[in-house]
Amino acid sequence: ADHSFDYPARPQDVDWRALYPNIGSEQQVEFADIGCGYGGFLVTLGEMFPQKLSIGMEIRVKVSDYVVDRIAALRLKSNETSGYQNIACIRTNAMKYLPNYFKKGQLEKMFFLYPDPHFKRAKHKWRIINQALLSEYAYVLRSGGLVYTMTDVEDLHKWIVSHMTQHPLYERLSETEANEDPITPKLYQSSEEGAKVVRNKGDHFLAIFRRL
Ligand code: SAM
Repeated sequence: ADHSFDYPARPQDVDWRALYPNIGSEQQVEFADIGCGYGGFLVTLGEMFPQKLSIGMEIRVKVSDYVVDRIAALRLKSNETSGYQNIACIRTNAMKYLPNYFKKGQLEKMFFLYPDPHFKRAKHKWRIINQALLSEYAYVLRSGGLVYTMTDVEDLHKWIVSHMTQHPLYERLSETEANEDPITPKLYQSSEEGAKVVRNKGDHFLAIFRRL
């Protein structure tokens, strides 16, 4: 239940230093992997973007604990002192608390990879991309920032595209633009869910949106 969440009152109350102990206190988180699961994609982000801070947000306590331990082990094993110091994971409900963690316009990229489909109509309001939340995501994203979405569920993909394109603050990237992004190939299988879809030879539906 929600009362078990410890969350900051305001972004300036977040103890980022505890999450990224080797990083200068001026540096801010710019990439957020929402519902990061077991953290495979987060690890890839850390490797691809050594100069950026990435955060994984995950609601399930056992899963977020796993990611925290995974990152601690990677940091220990790394030969470089900077290895994996730029990634961290917090347990939180990202549908409720993003503005508690991030200032207006702080994020450059947000990732929604293989989000829970919530197939039944009555459960659609639990979808992590929904009309009400899109304005909140736009608030924490800077203009020109990108939202990456990937799913194996076509109905959910259509839902995401229709809500995002209806919203005045987002435009979808063209297929060419999406394919030129160096992150795109990683969206298919760096996360655990993505790898599973690849193993099962399932479909992948990608859409990337720019915050206007
Ligand atoms: N992105 C990961 C991947 O591609 O492997 C995980 C995909 S999994 C199907 C969806 C994840 O989102 C689950 O780990 C779930 O616990 C998490 N999740 C669902 N609702 C959430 C919320 N409100 N806040 C944070 N995480 C959430």
